Amino acid sequence: MTAAPLKKHRIAIIGGGPAGLTAAETLSRDGHAVTVYEAMPTVARKFLLAGKSGLNITHSEEFPRFAGRYGAANDWLRTSLEAFTPDDVRKWATGLGTETFTGSSGRVFPTVMKASPLLRAWVARLREHGVEILTRHRWVGFDGNALQVETPDGMKVIEADAVLLALGGASWPRLGSDACWLPWLQERGIAIADFMPANCGFDIDWSEHFRERNAGAPIKSVTASVNGGVSLPGEFVISRHGIEGSLVYAHAATLRDLLRANGKAALLLDLMPGRSQERLARDLSRQDRKASFSNRLRKGAGLDGAKVALLRELTAPDVLSDADELAARIKALPIPLVAPRPIAEAISSAGGIRQSAIDENFMLRALPGLFVAGEMLDWEAPTGGYLLTACFATGQAAARGMQAWLAR
Ligand SMILES: Cc1cc2nc3c(=O)[nH]c(=O)nc-3n(C[C@H](O)[C@H](O)[C@H](O)COP(=O)(O)OP(=O)(O)OC[C@H]3O[C@@H](n4cnc5c(N)ncnc54)[C@H](O)[C@@H]3O)c2cc1C
Repeated sequence: MTAAPLKKHRIAIIGGGPAGLTAAETLSRDGHAVTVYEAMPTVARKFLLAGKSGLNITHSEEFPRFAGRYGAANDWLRTSLEAFTPDDVRKWATGLGTETFTGSSGRVFPTVMKASPLLRAWVARLREHGVEILTRHRWVGFDGNALQVETPDGMKVIEADAVLLALGGASWPRLGSDACWLPWLQERGIAIADFMPANCGFDIDWSEHFRERNAGAPIKSVTASVNGGVSLPGEFVISRHGIEGSLVYAHAATLRDLLRANGKAALLLDLMPGRSQERLARDLSRQDRKASFSNRLRKGAGLDGAKVALLRELTAPDVLSDADELAARIKALPIPLVAPRPIAEAISSAGGIRQSAIDENFMLRALPGLFVAGEMLDWEAPTGGYLLTACFATGQAAARGMQAWLAR
């Protein structure tokens, strides 16, 4: 006896980012009639922007370590990640004609580094599967239980057997994910954690003199820690407002939470990780006292340019003249932070729809038939390909959850 064919359903997906498009792929492959509603004139603008600085689609580290990068959401996301692993992400990209490679840091990139060829092939394949993509179609809230969409031809109501919201977080709102949906879901009793910047830069009270001379300068080959936590190697950039870049983003969640809790936080730098404090003190004490500060630091500690300026900016003059104290300062230079940069500038956002509002199928408990996925959920992760992988994985999990619910 042959199995009865699965019933085909009409599915609406609102939001054409990585999470929504992954769900569209999963559902259309099983023969469902999928329509993607996207507010912007084109889909996946943030994905394309991510490709501008080298698209980091996933990470090659061992799976348990990988799955442990989502902090408080580790357990919640684990099943989705097991069903769409970093290896699956690579296979998926290869299947779309984009080979990947692993960088020295373990991060995985397309060999072309960009997102556009991958997105073009992805959208073409979705269309082959019959997915209808309606751009300039913005969900604008509920009318009773119906979802209303503003279209170039006026207001319409979505008619579907199930709907997925994949509207993204709250960073870079001009690319489409502007979190305008937040009050509409809150009014329906959905628990949502406040959005906060993640993987963000920080404001610092630089002196005008320092800012004018050093904004844009990279600080390379240093290590940084926060409050005695793990010390990470890397680099960052001095900006007009403060600091930004990968080493700052790696500590951003801890720094942001400290600022919220205590009103103060500092990034602790080791400007010369390859040399001991004792050696630095000895070499600095041998320098000619009549030589300029910059020359003494260059010859005695191998420091120059923006690192010297940073040391001078953040250190009292009497400390600068004492070799022992200066060496200690080079090994542990606190940069006091004022506030995270605004969420509109952050790589990603923390906060979003809480786990308690969602069942095991990624369906909103209070709104049966309405599913959610991607960065609009309450999880956060560092940069390193973790963000996109979780968006793909939760997009697929919500699609499968929807199928399970429809087949109930
Ligand atoms: C500069 C930058 C670089 C990044 N680099 C990386 C990287 O290298 N690796 C990595 O893993 N991650 C990176 N990210 C993060 C990654 O791009 C996001 O986490 C990911 O795009 C989120 O996917 P999503 O599908 O949940 O949401 P989004 O990509 O934000 O997509 C949501 C979609 O929903 C649409 N939408 C929103 N509201 C409505 C509405 N009311 N009606 C209809 N449509 C709506 C939006 O227009 C958008 O197209 C980067 C982000 C930025 C800003």
